[in-house]
Formats: sequence, structure tokens, C-alpha cells
Amino acid sequence: MRPILILIAAFMLTASAQGYSLLPDQLSSSAQIDRALKYIKAIEPETLDEQARICEIAAPPFKERESALYFRRRFEELGLKNVRIDGAGNAIGERPGASDGPVVVLAAHLDTVFPEGTPVKVMRDEAMLKGPGIGDNCRGLAVMLAIIRALNETGITTSGTIIFVADVGEEGLGDLRGVRHLFNEELKGKIDYFIAIDGAGLEITNRAVGSHRYRVTFRGPGGHSFGAFGMPNPIHALGRAIEKVSRFKAPDRPKTTFNVGRIEGGTSVNSIAHTVWMEVDMRSESAVELNKLDAQFKEAVRAALDEENRFWESPHKLTVDVELIGDRPTGEQATDAPIVKAALEADAQLGIKSRLTSGSTDSNIPISLGIPAITIDGGGRGRGAHSLAESFDSTDSHLGAQRALLVTLNVSNLKL
Ligand SMILES: [Zn+2]
Repeated sequence: MRPILILIAAFMLTASAQGYSLLPDQLSSSAQIDRALKYIKAIEPETLDEQARICEIAAPPFKERESALYFRRRFEELGLKNVRIDGAGNAIGERPGASDGPVVVLAAHLDTVFPEGTPVKVMRDEAMLKGPGIGDNCRGLAVMLAIIRALNETGITTSGTIIFVADVGEEGLGDLRGVRHLFNEELKGKIDYFIAIDGAGLEITNRAVGSHRYRVTFRGPGGHSFGAFGMPNPIHALGRAIEKVSRFKAPDRPKTTFNVGRIEGGTSVNSIAHTVWMEVDMRSESAVELNKLDAQFKEAVRAALDEENRFWESPHKLTVDVELIGDRPTGEQATDAPIVKAALEADAQLGIKSRLTSGSTDSNIPISLGIPAITIDGGGRGRGAHSLAESFDSTDSHLGAQRALLVTLNVSNLKL
């Protein structure tokens, strides 16, 4: 299903007509910025090469180390200061500002959804690049490096410091642990604005979709399917729970979803299982709806357990364990929030028709903390994200890199 889009071209026209500018204290001349935009376009073939190179370093969930080392080296080569890998495994490098402007974090996630051993060779066919992760998020990572190169090449100075972060744990069970660590420890209290570059396309994500994820494990004594017949069965209990979940009703607006994503368990065809589990994902643009769904879900699991235990007149009873394995907070930023306007302004400068959307990204964490944050796409056109057949069409992809540069400059010139 398409994410909800709000077309705001009309708003942009109004804003431009009124002549408001987000660059009142611009330290860099417009000639410098023009040069940076031209440079970004000129090096786009090299950016695409780097995108492919990054993608050929496997970065499975919780195993982003090799990729983080690549970024530490690139940050050093590109002259960033205080280059390091933090306690969570994020690669970090800083470009100090000339005065006391806002501290902006520009981040791109390192991890893919693909398990260890997935072939990561990138195939290229003219404008098309194919490989797992090529858009999400090798594109975001490559664009981040292109921005540093353009700033270096043109000597653009920003008022505040820009901190570049290649972060871990954005996908799946990573549960945003890299960015959580940034905001809770590594850069706690120091970040004024946060921009994530994530995936292909030209959208702006200003609303954070929250999620709750659970692993639910039913357990019992188990036994022979014939000899021990008559005791409650964990797999039957799980089936009852799934049947209840499958009949949930969730609103279209705010978009709210549920999914049993994985099940596993059992011993053999002729055994009553002693254990079985499922993983469940629930999401919503609204915290209220998410909590409602969460309560319904817990009630369904409890009822399934009771029904299975009551069905058999057996001294043996099943137990259930409901473990929270993911908790991403929700939040929303107004279309007239300065950071959103800064991104819209960049679109207007480049003649891109702005589209605001919602998603579950690294920005969820700062948004939930009240720190202005957006996630922007890295340009080009992506297909098949999170699949082995993922592809990236690089036709005019330089536009995404140019926009990311302008958004970064616009945001770093916002007043505190
Ligand atoms: Zn991503």
C-alpha cells in the first residue's frame, strides 16, 4: 500500500511568493552553493561507484562492523574531525562550524535486512544498479559522503557543526539502537537538528510511524502425539491466538497495521510440541491507536492460552511468555516546522515537487524526544526494497544528492 502523501506544491508557491528565506545568516555565498551543486552533479558517477562499493560490504543486522570501519576510514580521508566508532558501533565524524550555530546530525543507516551469507555482489546495467540494499540504504550512505566531498571542494562554511553518522540497527530487530545510543549517550543533549538520508526517491518523512513488536512463546510439557494425547498443545494455542489476531480491525486513518511475521516451533509430526513462538509487528501513525491495538493483542494471547488449557481436562497446563522485542515511538511534525520548511525550500530551489510522508525511520527517536528531525530520500528510483531483487535506477539521481546538500545547509543555517 502507498504511504499517505500530502501534496504541498501549492504551499511552496505561496511561501516563495512571500519571499521568505531560510538562509538569513548564510555564511556561504550563493556562488559557492551553486558550485557545490554543480560539483555534486559532476561526481554523481563516482557517487554511484561508491554506492556499489558500500553495498558489497555485507552489513547484516547486528553485524555492521566491517561497514562501520569503511566509514571511519572514509571520514578520516575526507578530513572530518574527532572520527570514531561509538559504543553502539556507529561511525561518527564531525565538521566543525565557524560559530555557534545549530549542531546538525546527518545520518544514514548501515544495516540491511539481509542475513549473513546473502550474496552482496552489485550488478550494473547502464543506469540500473541491482543488489540487496542498493537503495536502502547504500544510496543514503553514498549521498552522505558526496555531501562531505562537495563541502570540502567548495570550502563552504556552516555556522554550526555538522556531525556525520553512519549508524547501526535501523532495520527490524535493530530497533533503532544506533540512533537511540546517539541521543541517550554519545551526543546526549548536544543535537539541535537531525536529518536521516534513507533509501531511494525524493520524499520527505516528517511523521514517525510507531511500532510495537513481540515474540510470543507458548510452552508445555510436550509428549508423544498418540501416547500423551489429551494434554494442551502449544501449537494449537498459537493457532488460536493467530486466528484472533487475523480478525482485528484497524483504522485506515491514522494508518494502523498488524502482522504475524514469523512462526517457529514443534518437535516432529508425531509429537505434541513443547514450545512454539510467533513474532508480531503492529504499527500506527497514532500512539493512541497503537496502544489500543496492543491491548487487544495481549487480550487475544491471554484468551488463546485460557481456551487451550480449558479445552483439555488435563493436569498439564501451558504457559505463555510475551516479550517486547521492538518499541518505536510515534510523533509528528507540522508542515510549517522550521526543519520541514528547510527541506521544502530545498525542493523549491531545485524545482522538485515536494511530497511529505510518514514512515518508521531513524527520525522516530528524535521526533519522540521533541528534537526536530526529518528523513529524506537519496534520489533515484528504488524498487523491491528489503528483497533480494532490489534495484536502483540512477536516472537523474544527482537531484537527490543535490537536495540532501541543500537541506543540510538550510537546516544548519536555521536559528536556534
Ligand atoms: Zn532504510
